[in-house]
Amino acid sequence: MLTVDLHTHSIASVHGFNTIEELLRQADRNGISGMAITDHSPGIDNTIWLSQNRTGDVPWEENIKGPDIPYFMNLLSRYKPPADIQVHLFKGIECNILSHDDRPTDVPVFIADRFDIVIASVHPIPPIFTVENSLQVTDRMIRAMDHPIDIIGHPLHKGYGPMMELLVDAAVEKGIALEVNNSSLQLGKSDPEQVRLLLEMAALKECRIVLSSDAHMANELGADADIRSILNSMDFPVELIVNHSKESTLDYVNRRKKIRAEIKDRLTHRS
Ligand SMILES: [Zn+2]
Ligand SMILES: [Zn+2]
Repeated sequence: MLTVDLHTHSIASVHGFNTIEELLRQADRNGISGMAITDHSPGIDNTIWLSQNRTGDVPWEENIKGPDIPYFMNLLSRYKPPADIQVHLFKGIECNILSHDDRPTDVPVFIADRFDIVIASVHPIPPIFTVENSLQVTDRMIRAMDHPIDIIGHPLHKGYGPMMELLVDAAVEKGIALEVNNSSLQLGKSDPEQVRLLLEMAALKECRIVLSSDAHMANELGADADIRSILNSMDFPVELIVNHSKESTLDYVNRRKKIRAEIKDRLTHRS
């Protein structure tokens, strides 16, 4: 069981099964000390639907069904967990890395400094991300690191393997963590051997790693069995794991928030 789980989805992501409060209560029952809620940025659910039921006559942007900007603004400014809940809530978002857009991600920049944690992931669903080749995927992931984000979510995926060494070198240089995602392993979307290679390279180059469940329902919260079966056979340095304790997570979050604010200022003043 993870001590801190930095990647979970609520019913606001539409394909999630539980409310934030149900997830928090499960986290409490599991003895988890910190949990991030990281619902998808606006539009992804609709895009999955459209990619499967494409008629060509409805612009995908006009049918957004996932959480909208007011949801994230309410989460950031108004939502407080019930007083009897012990677990620390990190307010976050999982935004999309974009393949064919001037912006490297769709993180809402005007509130990017207010999140506790920002994950950026490739979801290989056109038009959000049309995979061309490994170099293109790597390039888009590295560009995303200059946007106000903290973690590259599920970087290893059988549908878009990036060039691992380039990715790790860039993550170290830019202070971004790479995620090892339990759901991706469990669902067979990531190859355990590739994950092992990533961890070996991360240990060698001192790249920060985040371990996450990517829970879409309460009973997946804190799940790390598939990650552990790889990590337990290695001697991975615990200090490289961002979320090995609540304190180490808070330390990372507080540092990244300042960096995100600087990036936001730079992007806002440029335009
Ligand atoms: Zn994802
Ligand atoms: Zn996710």
